[in-house]
Amino acid sequence: MSEFDLIVIGGGSGGLAAAQRAAEYGARVAVAESHRLGGTCVNVGCVPKKVMWYAADLAEGLRDAAGYGFEVPAGAHDWSRLKETRDAYILRLNGIYETNLARRGITLLRGRARFLDRRTVAVGDTRLCAPHIIIATGGRPVIPDIAGSGLGITSDGFFELTERPRRVAVVGSGYIAVELAGIFAALGSEVSLVLRTGAALKQFDAMLGESMLRILGEEGVRIDTHAVPQELAREAHGLRLATGDGRHLGPFDCVLWAVGRVSAVSDLDLTRAGVACDADGFITTDKYQVTGTAGIYAIGDVTGRAQLTPVAIAAGRRLSDRLFGGKADRHLDYHNIPTVVFGHPPIGTVGLTERAAREDYGDDNVTVFKSGFVPMYHQLTSRKPRCDMKLVTVGPEKRVVGIHVIGPGADEMMQGFAVAVRMGATKAEFDDTVAIHPTSAEELVTMR
Ligand SMILES: Cc1cc2nc3c(=O)[nH]c(=O)nc-3n(C[C@H](O)[C@H](O)[C@H](O)COP(=O)(O)OP(=O)(O)OC[C@H]3O[C@@H](n4cnc5c(N)ncnc54)[C@H](O)[C@@H]3O)c2cc1C
Repeated sequence: MSEFDLIVIGGGSGGLAAAQRAAEYGARVAVAESHRLGGTCVNVGCVPKKVMWYAADLAEGLRDAAGYGFEVPAGAHDWSRLKETRDAYILRLNGIYETNLARRGITLLRGRARFLDRRTVAVGDTRLCAPHIIIATGGRPVIPDIAGSGLGITSDGFFELTERPRRVAVVGSGYIAVELAGIFAALGSEVSLVLRTGAALKQFDAMLGESMLRILGEEGVRIDTHAVPQELAREAHGLRLATGDGRHLGPFDCVLWAVGRVSAVSDLDLTRAGVACDADGFITTDKYQVTGTAGIYAIGDVTGRAQLTPVAIAAGRRLSDRLFGGKADRHLDYHNIPTVVFGHPPIGTVGLTERAAREDYGDDNVTVFKSGFVPMYHQLTSRKPRCDMKLVTVGPEKRVVGIHVIGPGADEMMQGFAVAVRMGATKAEFDDTVAIHPTSAEELVTMR
């Protein structure tokens, strides 16, 4: 039996952050990882997705170039070459993570970990024990339980594609569905976005989903609403998706399920550790990330809260600050977490949606400011996607509690504005800030 101060199960965003911070304080740390270091974000999430987003952005730029006087021949795009360079980049990152662990003296165990009891974990034949164990096992994509669903792929499979499918259905309404649909469309696929309801991005401010669907439609994406998948079948001309109301969508060369993610806990033997999950299968914790069992913690996607890389990292670092750095009250505040949807165009958002603000503060206390325009860049291009912005303010002092933007540049706009929201800035303070001209962001400090 090997003894440590901390065992971390899962070498993804949260697990690595927690392990490294703990080791910096001098703790003896072991990390168990069954796949590639870096977890979802680095291998099948944020990083390869952003590479594909850049490719799609370039494709759009090449189309827009004519408006700026360029004669750009319609160039073929080599998806497989992009995959090769993307994979090589990610392999480099995997190596850097391994080096970083070694540099801090962290023991890395390759294999699936499971609990033997509240203090002991097994990875293959190796047994480890520690007074502190962090579960950071993340999640995995859901494949719907319908006939033929195995003929489709998930976001994991998206990153395995060696060539661009010509006809694609992306089933789902969340940010991953919208992002991958936008990438396929910009790179030249015929795309159908298949929604169970009439809306997309339902966890965000309603304006964002509405604008996104409108813009995707303008860019040639077919939007199939109120389509509940019932069966996926392979026919002579491709895949056909049957819906509950009798429609047969397709044929498609690829159907991608982006219908949610579940926690990766099934083989952890959590009952041996006395750790409980909620009705949706996510591990419940208190605000200090402590599960129902003292000494066992959960961070990141496995807790189901704000499933984002920086959230997993922040929760992990703060937890190690508290356990090994003497910072007794250190914990993550899950309010006002900014986030970006890397759609085409991107979305940047922080704080309360208009609806949530009205529910929390009452209609009479909420004032909303909106702006919508075609960005200057698109004045000269043939496509004219609009930029839509909303500031949600509360109280007589008009404290800004929500900012929602869809449009080019929204992704890079939001980080700084999130600081202002966290600090409690008011509309008057926004207005008092001198604008940066000419930008789209200046609208946020000039709205009436
Ligand atoms: C397509 C896609 C795009 C995304 N884009 C973004 C984005 O743009 N921005 C953003 O902030 N977030 C994004 N995310 C979310 C982000 O990837 C996750 O929030 C983040 O990776 C969560 O980190 P984590 O540490 O909780 O889990 P993970 O990163 O998933 O790490 C968990 C690790 O645990 C390992 N593991 C699981 N079970 C065991 C076991 N029993 N034993 C040993 N190891 C185990 C897994 O192999 C994995 O490496 C995206 C996700 C997806 C799927």
